[in-house]
Amino acid sequence: MKRVCAWCNKDMGILLAGGQSKNLITHGICEECANNIFTKIGLKSESFLDDLAAPVLVVDETGRTLLANRLARVLLKKNLQDTELYNIGDMFECAHAALPEGCGKTIHCGRCTIRSSVMDTFESGESKLEVKAYLHRGKSDNSEKIDLSVSTEKINGVVLLRIDEIGDK
Ligand SMILES: [Zn+2]
Repeated sequence: MKRVCAWCNKDMGILLAGGQSKNLITHGICEECANNIFTKIGLKSESFLDDLAAPVLVVDETGRTLLANRLARVLLKKNLQDTELYNIGDMFECAHAALPEGCGKTIHCGRCTIRSSVMDTFESGESKLEVKAYLHRGKSDNSEKIDLSVSTEKINGVVLLRIDEIGDK
């Protein structure tokens, strides 16, 4: 299959049948255009993300959410203003993130697939597709286990975290 960038029409080469593209989340856009959009997180990256047909968070290397697209804000019931500098766990209302130590610093966080998927992608640059994860949502004494699956892609110093499935959605 021949692929062309939807933004600049540059030939993106041939995607072999069954082959996996590095741009799992931003597919249809070449690396140069994607880097250009994410050089500075702002209106341009926001409208690009809103066009994606899935909920996507933009996370920095410390696990904070810089941006959430419209679908993610609706799904997680967070306002854009709220998402600034929120830890991933706070976005998902993870019971462990609500502990005094905070997201990423509790004894539970070493087993967190959401966080480790994001951090692995930061380190390796490799995208991840539909990784199964779970979280305990709510308060630590009254939480509900939620299954989810997420995909990741690194782009110009940030990681995009796509929510493929959450709970029964
Ligand atoms: Zn392009």
